[in-house]
Amino acid sequence: MTLTVAGSINIDHVIRLPQFPRPGETLTGRDYRIVPGGKGANQAVAAARAGAATRFVACVGEDALAGSLVAGFAADGIDVSAIDTVAGVNTGVALIQVNDAGENTIALAAGANAELTPDRLARHAEALHCKQLLLQLEIPLDTNLAAARAAKARGARVVLNPAPARALPDELLALVDLITPNETEAERLTGVAVNDDAGAAAAAGALHAKGIAVVIITLGARGVWLSEQGQGRRVPGFSVQAVDTTAAGDTFNGALVAALQQDRPLAEAVRFAQAAAAISVTRPGAQTSVPYRAEIEALLE
Ligand code: ADP
Repeated sequence: MTLTVAGSINIDHVIRLPQFPRPGETLTGRDYRIVPGGKGANQAVAAARAGAATRFVACVGEDALAGSLVAGFAADGIDVSAIDTVAGVNTGVALIQVNDAGENTIALAAGANAELTPDRLARHAEALHCKQLLLQLEIPLDTNLAAARAAKARGARVVLNPAPARALPDELLALVDLITPNETEAERLTGVAVNDDAGAAAAAGALHAKGIAVVIITLGARGVWLSEQGQGRRVPGFSVQAVDTTAAGDTFNGALVAALQQDRPLAEAVRFAQAAAAISVTRPGAQTSVPYRAEIEALLE
């Protein structure tokens, strides 16, 4: 049985400028790139490159770039049969400005991602007959709920990366087997600030209380807080020279479920995922930075 990712596809338009334009101002940037993005897409790519048979449930619009995006997923070995092309809308878009200080602003338009409704999902019921389902929060919440319910009913492990940060209904959390917030997302979900190990333990405890068996709070360069059945510990990551942390979390999530798909024990899967994420931060970009299984295994040796 496959690993299924249901989630977003975005086209990222990235422009580099000395500083952000002020309201009403026009500034000429230095460099402009169109790159594939979206948390669902990044995580599906990470899972496939990490070696898992991956199916991706998503929507694109009827624009010129959509075809090349989907062809890119197929080239990574992803099963794209549940990616729908929706008439009359654009593919999801992120307009990203990066200034000389390395800060960014991001304006998102959900586009086709908003069309991944529970009704449309129901047309891809076979995709939810999976061993594991990986979800994020860039598609409608009702769809995530329906996907989690259907997959869980068929015995799948439901993994939720609760990003971007938002509060979530208990109904969804109760269906989740493994959750992977970063510090900000953990605080948004629980109200507990994750500034240190004690904060991580308290936030993990609050998530266990919602019915979630495994809580992994990602802590950037500090690694992760791994908590299972109320027993938590910090697991350090790999020490690398970071150049661009975009998609570190997405790489971690895709590689984690890929390792679990291969029935690796949880601690080993976390180590594999941290190795993948560490490699991704040494390279620029989102999907461009996602490593392949052989590279991950090489770092683990
Ligand atoms: P997000 O990108 O969602 O905010 P994090 O920043 O917590 O997620 O990063 C996810 C994982 O990526 C971390 O748990 C860690 O394993 C790895 N990682 C992130 N930043 C670094 C870094 N500077 N050096 C090594 N590993 C990193």
